[in-house]
Amino acid sequence: MLDTPLFRRLMSNHPANEPILGYEPGSEERDSLQSELDRQMSEVLEVPCIIGGKEVFTGNTATQVIPHDHGHVLANVHLAGREEMAAAFEAAVQSQKGWIDSGLEARCEVFERCAELLAGDWRMKVNASTMLNQSKTAFQAEIDAACELIDFWRFNCHYARGFHDDFQPLISPAGVENSTEIRPLEGFVLAITPFNFTSIAGNLPSAPALLGCTSVWKPSRNSYLSNYVVMQLMMEAGLPPGVINFLPGSGAEITEVALSNPDFAGLHFTGSTATFQGLWKEISDSLPNLRSYPRIVGETGGKDFVVAHPDCDNRGLTVALLRGAFEYQGQKCSAASRAYIPRSVWASISSELCEEVGKITMGDARDFTNFMTAVIDQRAFDKITGYISRAAGSSSSEIIVGGGYDDSKGWFIEPTIIVTNDPNSETMVEEIFGPVLTVYVYDDDDFESTLEICDQASPYALTGSIFANNEEDVRKAFEALRFTAGNFYINDKPTGAVVAQQPFGGARASGTNDKAGGPLNLLRWISPRSVKRTLEIPQDWRYPFMGED
Ligand code: NAD
Repeated sequence: MLDTPLFRRLMSNHPANEPILGYEPGSEERDSLQSELDRQMSEVLEVPCIIGGKEVFTGNTATQVIPHDHGHVLANVHLAGREEMAAAFEAAVQSQKGWIDSGLEARCEVFERCAELLAGDWRMKVNASTMLNQSKTAFQAEIDAACELIDFWRFNCHYARGFHDDFQPLISPAGVENSTEIRPLEGFVLAITPFNFTSIAGNLPSAPALLGCTSVWKPSRNSYLSNYVVMQLMMEAGLPPGVINFLPGSGAEITEVALSNPDFAGLHFTGSTATFQGLWKEISDSLPNLRSYPRIVGETGGKDFVVAHPDCDNRGLTVALLRGAFEYQGQKCSAASRAYIPRSVWASISSELCEEVGKITMGDARDFTNFMTAVIDQRAFDKITGYISRAAGSSSSEIIVGGGYDDSKGWFIEPTIIVTNDPNSETMVEEIFGPVLTVYVYDDDDFESTLEICDQASPYALTGSIFANNEEDVRKAFEALRFTAGNFYINDKPTGAVVAQQPFGGARASGTNDKAGGPLNLLRWISPRSVKRTLEIPQDWRYPFMGED
């Protein structure tokens, strides 16, 4: 066990992970979730922008539909125009001084209250809106929208509380008092969030706010409803007006307006690699207009792998592939989407794997017997089915199970497994972000060269796992794949990172690896001030060496 002051501080009195509710038949939580689902199904909500704490209904609306029942409208969302965008950034700038003055403890109290509300009365509201808006099963909504967001809020407060003591200067010589002020960035942070995790959406604007920044939150057009519910929760918890401003609307336009404001101090982004690379470029072009060099934090795409050794737990591997590839329809940045399986293992697991895929139930998220639901929208459906049709027509690939799809009622795509003899085929190297797993079968003797192929095949480096029984084989993979994944799993699926257990993030084309859910991310939102106070003030400008012999 480490024994440093920082580690001792982090270990003392830290929060526990929020327990996951089971939603078993007959349970109280299942009844209450079902009635909340019915309630949300029976209304069409008007979702406003929230600027300086005020609701703004612009009249320029977009609808939110249910991905597994796309004829059903859940909400009309009032989109921000340029005027509202400029007002949101101004509100963020104006509210920063008061927010800083309130102090870290008061800010922690707000976010700890958010966690209490989400753990209590708001849990079903947030979970139900996530199930309907983003088409998640009850379990997927629970681990994301409830547990992970509660954990983000609680652990972020725990980490931030110690920063003052953690980063004081080591030395104050006689006559001098040195100290470090943990200041926030000067200005606002633009939080641009993805559709697939309500928890990430809530965390991106609130993590910088905890440290004293203010934020403008641009939610994804596919999760406006659930994200609005989270915004309402934060306001009920006492978030002061203007500290976080909720701004549905065009990402490109919001970015343009943000960058025209000199107080743009940072970007907190999660989404695709292409979007992030474009944003980075725009920010660098805007530098002459900005007061500070902005902090850029982005977690982006993945092409997450499973490598099996000939000596491995075959049943464990099968379960990891099923859960890792198909939970939430493969729409996790960490989803297993390429697997390297030795010929002997493939011979023993392939029929069972296909049989199990055949048993996967898919449909409405409100039917709790379903393991999968629909993908997020028509664009995703077209993109994913494009990969499937090209694989079907390729001479190097074969679809061994699934491959069907139907968008008549919802955007449904069957869990699909492709086997390829080309380790660089399209579905082995590109992010698909859907329920498609590609397997490359290698000769049992080629474990080490397969690790090299895995390392080199894709530009991404987010998550990956190794299945092996022998410690020496695990070590070989650990070393060969050092830079291939920011989150590395041994004998487990590559998904399901838990706050304070496996801080999450990847490098290479997968992001800046600032580890959401850990102290490293929070440190990006501070800009310390070093302070020297001289107690014995020099009264003579001459130095002793200047004396005459
Ligand atoms: P996306 O890039 O399409 O959208 C992300 C956000 O960026 C959305 O709010 C979107 O409106 C906004 N956006 C899109 N174009 C923009 C532009 N030109 N200017 C400004 N904003 C713009 O991604 P998505 O479909 O919402 O999410 C899926 C992607 O996110 C996948 O690539 C997935 O791997 C990645 N992801 C990564 C992590 C991680 O931690 N690494 C976690 C979740 C999702």
